[in-house]
Amino acid sequence: MAHTYDPQNIFARILRGEIPNKTVLETQHTLAFHDINPAAPVHVLVIPKGPYVTFDHFAADASAEEIVDFHRTAASVCAMLGIAAGDGYRAITNAGVHGMQEVPHYHLHILGGRVLGRLVERA
Ligand code: 5GP
Repeated sequence: MAHTYDPQNIFARILRGEIPNKTVLETQHTLAFHDINPAAPVHVLVIPKGPYVTFDHFAADASAEEIVDFHRTAASVCAMLGIAAGDGYRAITNAGVHGMQEVPHYHLHILGGRVLGRLVERA
């Protein structure tokens, strides 16, 4: 899959402050904010500030500092929202056409607050 980054994608615009967001946590390399159309009582998106399109792009090309910061921030979000030590959650990421990714800036969905059902429907 090509990793050509579109700097006009909606999360790039959020990172530039052109579009508001409901921030949960922000660090040097990472932003976590509430999804605008939540699919569960807890639905937070964690994004790196760097221009990465998908999980594999981020994992392959980001610096170790960015990768650690991203995951530590995701862990802090789980703790802050009370789902890590509580009833649990799901962390998922979509990539490309088969993953039905809508926004071409890598993001981790953190979902919780209800039983979430099976991961994927069987075809
Ligand atoms: P994807 O399908 O790419 O994995 O998920 C994109 C997510 O971004 C969706 O859950 C959608 O609701 C969310 N989203 C799209 N536009 C905005 C926005 O402008 N603000 C916020 N907070 N979330 C958005």
